Amino acid sequence: MGYTHYWIRPALLDQSVFLEVVRDFKHVLPKLEQLGVLLGDELGRGGGPVVWKDRLVFNGRSACGHEDGFQLDTNHFLPAKRTCEGALGCCYETFSFHQDTGELEKDGDRNGRFFHFCKTAYKPYDFAVIVALIIVKHHFGQEVQVRSDGGTAYWADGMRFCQRHLGYGVDFCLDDANQRTKENVKTM
Ligand SMILES: [Zn+2]
Repeated sequence: MGYTHYWIRPALLDQSVFLEVVRDFKHVLPKLEQLGVLLGDELGRGGGPVVWKDRLVFNGRSACGHEDGFQLDTNHFLPAKRTCEGALGCCYETFSFHQDTGELEKDGDRNGRFFHFCKTAYKPYDFAVIVALIIVKHHFGQEVQVRSDGGTAYWADGMRFCQRHLGYGVDFCLDDANQRTKENVKTM
């Protein structure tokens, strides 16, 4: 399943704002675990996610111990549940969000921005990915655009989760894929 989230960002983000993202993600980590969202490092190994002052890097845990077909029961209004299956356990693509992507010397798009993504296969750690992106969006606003294969309905549980534990989230909006076109039209 090619279920993917996308974000578009400058190479370098403000360090103090990034620290707020790190602080909030650290705060929700134990709550994610309580729900059954088990995280590992970039390759899904034990030891947990990499939550440093300049980076947020994680994957679903490969040795998660879930039974094949385990479903995360957070989105009560959708028939499709985030599901753990297969030999990789909860592991799929790495979610990697750095304060400095190391791309400063590169060109990026015409606005000097870079396109990043994470394909989660809608496994349970997908929930941690959308929570991380909701936190990022709250602190960085328009500086980071967030898009997704899943519409707002697929983000609603993450938004409620953030609202409960961080006091924001229900105001989260995915960025429109056509937004840049609209901006360009406006400046023409
Ligand atoms: Zn699992």
